[in-house]
Amino acid sequence: MDYEVVIGLEVHAELSTESKFLCACTTAFGGEPNTHVCPGCAGMPGTLPVLNKSAVDYAIRLGLALGCSIAERCEFDRKSYFYPDLPKAYQVTQFNSPVCKGGTLEIETQKGSKTVGITQIHMEEDAGKLVHDQGVFTLADFNRGSVPLLEIVSQPDMGSAEEAVAYLEKLREILLYLDVCDCKMQEGSLRADINMSIRKKGEKKLGVRTEMKNMNSFKAIERAIKFETQRQISTLEEGGVITRQTLRWDDDKGENTPLRSKENAQDYRYFPEPDIPALQISAEWISRIKSELPELAQQKRERYTEKYNITAANAQTLTSHKNISDLFEETLNLSGDPAETSNLIIGEILRLMNKTATSAEDLCVDSKKLAVLINFLKAGKINRSVYKEVVEAVFTENAEPEAYISGKSLFLIQDSGAVEKAVTQVLEENQKSIEDLRAGKDRAFGFLMGQVMKKLQGKGDPATVKELLNAKLK
Ligand code: ZN
Ligand code: MN
Repeated sequence: MDYEVVIGLEVHAELSTESKFLCACTTAFGGEPNTHVCPGCAGMPGTLPVLNKSAVDYAIRLGLALGCSIAERCEFDRKSYFYPDLPKAYQVTQFNSPVCKGGTLEIETQKGSKTVGITQIHMEEDAGKLVHDQGVFTLADFNRGSVPLLEIVSQPDMGSAEEAVAYLEKLREILLYLDVCDCKMQEGSLRADINMSIRKKGEKKLGVRTEMKNMNSFKAIERAIKFETQRQISTLEEGGVITRQTLRWDDDKGENTPLRSKENAQDYRYFPEPDIPALQISAEWISRIKSELPELAQQKRERYTEKYNITAANAQTLTSHKNISDLFEETLNLSGDPAETSNLIIGEILRLMNKTATSAEDLCVDSKKLAVLINFLKAGKINRSVYKEVVEAVFTENAEPEAYISGKSLFLIQDSGAVEKAVTQVLEENQKSIEDLRAGKDRAFGFLMGQVMKKLQGKGDPATVKELLNAKLK
């Protein structure tokens, strides 16, 4: 029997605002446990929340980028549940009136492009973190408690692990370019809940779905979806039934196990948050955010190919992460040479990142120094192999190009007198090559070039050497 899988994703993105969702504590990752905490986010009775306006700005920003409609008025709700990482015993979220509704995300798959619907985006606060590996105790760290989150809920429009990963990659790209989330999955800034079911091909009715929560690696998500697809198919084939439940994915074992039966909305006793007034979002507010929207990767790719004559494949590589396109653009602004700058980033920087296992998130290279090197190369002050060597020194140890090159005396000889002298000597010593050249043996020219370079200990500027050699030969 042929089955098809139906996948919807709920993605939680931690916002990179300075302060938390409902208090002024910092959102900085890490820190000594329970130092980024105040009575408010520690859930002390009698404290009152104050909504972070930037978090709303970020929500509108993402909503506009995904083509959602922004609510003129939205409210907050309490989602009640007891858990040790949630000291208030409720999460402030949006249940009845999310800030953004509708919208789409275009993804690229092997079968071509596909549109995934966005049901809604709502704002909510994060919970704290439980630490289980400290002996017999479980410890609670509330530093993350009440950090603002956007929950992006997709339509069940994805039909394979590949499509789910493509959706997440595209969403991450947009979040990064909008500068609303650092998307560090290993730090939990971006996590996905997978909702999935299967049905016989051609059937319209959705099957019973299961959920796998808090997935924070694309690899694990891909494996989990493939495993769960097979599990659901075998269950049905063996005459069993699929029950609506939450499963825990164990990436080490490569399998999932039931965690709990799926709760429904009633279990959470949602009710309007009485301490936060309804939020009015004016048309002016929305148009201000619209006018400040940064350029997204797709627009950058178009600009790179049209304005800088960069191939589509290279434009794709240069925009694969915001930090890479930022480095490209900053270097280009100073060097003024799109082709050489693109070659530098794609040929050298990406190679060095690969070699040193540096992720794009951690990329930190001084664009000014790179531009200086491009200018040295173009002015004939250094040759290409020195150029590459110094790029590596800048990348790995933030070396100062000028000091590095003079320290190792790697600058090419700019004094044309010295080059001329070497050319004259080489021609005197190699009469045979001159005769060969006159007899039409063009290879002799290369030999003479090589001899001059040798005399200059490799520090001649090839263009100058070639020019003077040609002149003298005439
Ligand atoms: Zn606080
Ligand atoms: Mn949520």
